[in-house]
Amino acid sequence: MSDKTSNDMADDMANRMAVDCLGAGCASLSLAARASEFVNHHFTIIDPGTHKADDHIWGFWAMPWLNSASDGARKQWFKWRIISSDRIIERSSQGYPYSAIHRYEWLEKCRKKALVAGVGFRSKPARKQALQILDSRPSPMKDGMMLQHFSGYEITTDRNVFDSTIAILMDFRCDQSRGVHFIYCLPFSARNALVESTLFSPELAPEPFYDSAIRRYLKEIIGIDDYRITRREKGVIPMATLPQRDPHLTGIGANGGAIRPSSGYAFSFIQKQIDQIIASAKPGQPLTVKTPHSRFELFMDGIFLRVIRRHPVLAPQIFTAMADRLTGDEFALFLSGEAGPRLWTKLVLAMPKWPFLCAVFQSDKAGKS
Ligand SMILES: Cc1cc2nc3c(=O)[nH]c(=O)nc-3n(C[C@H](O)[C@H](O)[C@H](O)COP(=O)(O)OP(=O)(O)OC[C@H]3O[C@@H](n4cnc5c(N)ncnc54)[C@H](O)[C@@H]3O)c2cc1C
Repeated sequence: MSDKTSNDMADDMANRMAVDCLGAGCASLSLAARASEFVNHHFTIIDPGTHKADDHIWGFWAMPWLNSASDGARKQWFKWRIISSDRIIERSSQGYPYSAIHRYEWLEKCRKKALVAGVGFRSKPARKQALQILDSRPSPMKDGMMLQHFSGYEITTDRNVFDSTIAILMDFRCDQSRGVHFIYCLPFSARNALVESTLFSPELAPEPFYDSAIRRYLKEIIGIDDYRITRREKGVIPMATLPQRDPHLTGIGANGGAIRPSSGYAFSFIQKQIDQIIASAKPGQPLTVKTPHSRFELFMDGIFLRVIRRHPVLAPQIFTAMADRLTGDEFALFLSGEAGPRLWTKLVLAMPKWPFLCAVFQSDKAGKS
């Protein structure tokens, strides 16, 4: 076995195609962490450090392509619930637990791997231009488009109040006056949980709205009003496929169509997108980046979003029916973009017929779904 000297490594990198990645978030760093799997491309991360996001949790189902993330998960739940005012649907999966990883931990792990693989880090591009630029900077959101917006915090209490074996993905027992609204609650232990008020609607709510929804939930549903807030997180995710920020560059991550419009999930899909980039890399050729969603999935997501936009009151029924119809494994596979025809058929049959049929024939002229 021969140990490469730093000179050998520099020569090797100079012979590769230079690829700059704009932004140092999930997509760029997840790709850079796997730089050793590319034999013909050399990566440099370009980030001015001016748009640093706060730490937050990425939730995902532990699928086979996410082993590295699953290993670093803070916690995994083998059971989860979707709750409406009249139903509690609980599902479980031994193979695909719902997992939570911290943004900062994942990015740091990726950064370390990237440095070992010889990835460069700069605050602005070098004078000699790279042959390809992968752009992970987010696209601006359009007015009136459907958004997933949320605000919440991690709390600690002095008594055991949470069932730490069950993740609450959606609890609709909260104010529905501003659109689809649910509480997302990830209990890390019996005394510690992340609780978020989440809306699917085109307009953000004033901050006190999310706050009072959480306080009410904790008081009326969990039964506590004495707790300490240890960390806050909030975000806005577009529920649509946005055009790329700069059409002359190659979009990656959220800017490369990785967000699943109907759910706002992107972490798992970004890792899928990177698998595709690696599998299709060819010597001397720019990398190809594809959206990790099929046309069919995007078409169905469009219909779904038109339904919940026009009939937000149906959301609790739709989500509980979906969870009720599928097994835990199927639910996890569906939300990870792995549904086949049989699973899609089950889902379509579980949906209320008229709103969905009408939405099929309603065009979305404003591109606002
Ligand atoms: C609070 C929050 C919670 C989320 N939770 C989940 C979840 O639980 N599960 C899930 O699957 N998805 C979740 N998402 C969605 C998605 O996974 C993330 O948005 C993910 O970070 C997208 O990765 P990305 O690399 O495309 O963008 P980012 O990670 O946002 O990276 C973009 C990079 O571009 C840089 N940048 C931005 N603007 C500029 C600029 N003008 N110039 C230069 N650089 C710039 C930023 O500094 C950053 O480094 C969440 C999103 C947010 C915001």
